[in-house]
Amino acid sequence: MTDPGSHTNPPVDGSELIRFDHVTKRFGSNTVLDGLDFSVDAGKHVTLIGPSGSGKTTILRLLMTLMKPDEGTITVAGDQLFPASEKQVREVRKKIGMVFQQFNLFPNMNVLRNITEAPVTVLGMSKDEAEQRARELLDLVGLADKCDAYPTQLSGGQQQRVAIARALAMRPQVLLLDEVTSALDPELVAGVLDVLRDIARTTDITMLCVTHEMNFARDISDQVLMFDSGHVIESGPPEKIFGDPEHERTREFLGAVL
Ligand code: ADP
Repeated sequence: MTDPGSHTNPPVDGSELIRFDHVTKRFGSNTVLDGLDFSVDAGKHVTLIGPSGSGKTTILRLLMTLMKPDEGTITVAGDQLFPASEKQVREVRKKIGMVFQQFNLFPNMNVLRNITEAPVTVLGMSKDEAEQRARELLDLVGLADKCDAYPTQLSGGQQQRVAIARALAMRPQVLLLDEVTSALDPELVAGVLDVLRDIARTTDITMLCVTHEMNFARDISDQVLMFDSGHVIESGPPEKIFGDPEHERTREFLGAVL
């Protein structure tokens, strides 16, 4: 397994892959994102940190087209997400893989089928090719011997590693990770983070992570965005954000979580 994040038309490394322009999202009178601007270049690993309720997960859900912004535009690899036809949305979604807090595996399918289902039905991949790739990905996440197991026979950490393999099986250009270790027992967290560190190190996939695991964020990030009340209040390389933050709110937040 040399290149699990590869895709047929990779964007040029360093070109802009994701862009938010003046994005505002409200729930009733609650303005969760307030004219947000940021961009992520292809191949980069960007971590979103900040207090609960600051809008981080909303950003990932907007990218997955699970909800729409009230104002502003979002583009992925040059394609605008809103407004877009259903066909355009389907095309954009193929470029994005997401791993959730709760692993959301299909309970009635074994591990291999969990991973091959979407490549076969959505991408039209042959069953043989999808299975070969699934086995490579299971090897990557350290579960080569679990092809035939069902989700309930696996620990939470193992289920989450299957969910990571399942997301990569679609050959996305970007992997969204939404607090993927927060539902795990503490002793299972390190195994999942190690798998993600490996993926970050050995593939060209772009990663956008929401995490409370600050050591992990420090290890894998090219850039850290600190959120508060729907704004990026500070951004920069991890050495800067964790070592010498400028904003008082960042210092307070890191003081509380580190
Ligand atoms: P974070 O990921 O930083 O913890 P979220 O993006 O999950 O923050 O949530 C930001 C705010 O938006 C919170 O106040 C949350 O209650 C609110 N929110 C998120 N999703 C919904 C929703 N579907 N309906 C109403 N309010 C929501």
